[in-house]
Amino acid sequence: MKLDTRAMRYLTAEDWRVLTAVEICSKNHELVPTTLIERTARLKGGASGVHKSISALAKVGLISRMKEAKYDGYRLSYGGLDYLALHTHASRKQVYSVGTRVGVGKESDIMIVADDKGTQKILKIHRLGRISFRTVKTNRDYLKKHQSGSWMYLSRLAAIKEYAFMQALREEGFPVPEPIAQSRHTIVMSLIDAPPMRQIASVPDPAALYAELISLILRLAKHGLIHGDFNEFNILIREDKIENESTNTNTDTATDTPTDTPEKNQDAPSITLTPILIDFPQMVSMDHQNAEMYFDRDVECVKRFFSRRFHFVSTEPGPFFKDAKKTVGRDGVRRLDAVVEASGFTKKMAKDLEAAIREQQANPKNDTGDSDEEEDESEDEDEDEDEDGDEGLQVIGDQIVSTEEGLEKLAINDGT
Ligand code: ADP
Ligand code: MG
Repeated sequence: MKLDTRAMRYLTAEDWRVLTAVEICSKNHELVPTTLIERTARLKGGASGVHKSISALAKVGLISRMKEAKYDGYRLSYGGLDYLALHTHASRKQVYSVGTRVGVGKESDIMIVADDKGTQKILKIHRLGRISFRTVKTNRDYLKKHQSGSWMYLSRLAAIKEYAFMQALREEGFPVPEPIAQSRHTIVMSLIDAPPMRQIASVPDPAALYAELISLILRLAKHGLIHGDFNEFNILIREDKIENESTNTNTDTATDTPTDTPEKNQDAPSITLTPILIDFPQMVSMDHQNAEMYFDRDVECVKRFFSRRFHFVSTEPGPFFKDAKKTVGRDGVRRLDAVVEASGFTKKMAKDLEAAIREQQANPKNDTGDSDEEEDESEDEDEDEDEDGDEGLQVIGDQIVSTEEGLEKLAINDGT
């Protein structure tokens, strides 16, 4: 789904208030009755003011009208939730303008955004539980089991979980983006200026990069975690130029002019490739009942990619789950698998999210190509690139502050 922020600047403070009222009431009502929206929004202009806002919001697709047997009402759309999240990021000064879309998957939209100082960041909008026509039947059963409007709940869970892991991994010094903010189904993180490994045609030293990635998997395992989708789309490769240093990087940092590599040109900058890991909603604990399967799949993913793309096959077998399992928590390292739970993410939430992700991954029409076992990546058609979603910069931050106070007040009165 495309994020189109153009209507944002035309919304009045009243419209925002009504939109927030619909969001609040959606927590308890699949379909929010118009009368309830009126009571919750409590606009000064009374019912007619609310109706005016309702039609303004419906016109731009932020809410949609549903007619049901018992009553008519409104439902918040993905667009409506996007606007509310952006509004929050803007009021916290994290996002001022929205730029181009850099990635689109079935599970998310990735946008470049900027704050009012012009610092570019990434906005990831989770889109879980979206209905695909290819799996209408499964989805119907699925929706019956879960609450309708579950897309809102599931997408929010994905964002909360991803944000919590990004924070914990970052604190432990893992190479991941800096988590900046989270609101509803979205997160703001630092922009990594590096392409996904998928786009890298060749590397000078495949063995070194391979070793680095495997050691990343093992380091995660030591902290009690498995990434669960450790593929070439979720590993960004940053080129770091190191001036005036030998490529023979020993632990010896005392000297810049090593004497033991006379054949190397010591003045030429050498390039190191640093993998940066992204995409964490599906991470699992090393104690998960299917941990071994997830661990092996991550390892296999790296092996397969290196063999196909770089024609590199490691002479060493493994690494194996049983060995990695022995290292969990060793040397006093902090276990991170409990982090999400500690942040208030209940077991039920974890289960709901896991089921939704499994469902989404099982869908054969996987836009990002992620973890598609049978797919033979014949040639490099770059699914990542998305030409149609680029309308240039859209400013959203200008008229935000004035309405936020009202919204906060409204949120506190969430007693309906
Ligand atoms: P999904 O869950 O849809 O797979 P990802 O988090 O993997 O979403 O992001 C999809 C794509 O967006 C990545 O392959 C990458 O190209 C780009 N991307 C995501 N996060 C960042 C970031 N912080 N910096 C730069 N590019 C990013
Ligand atoms: Mg991904």
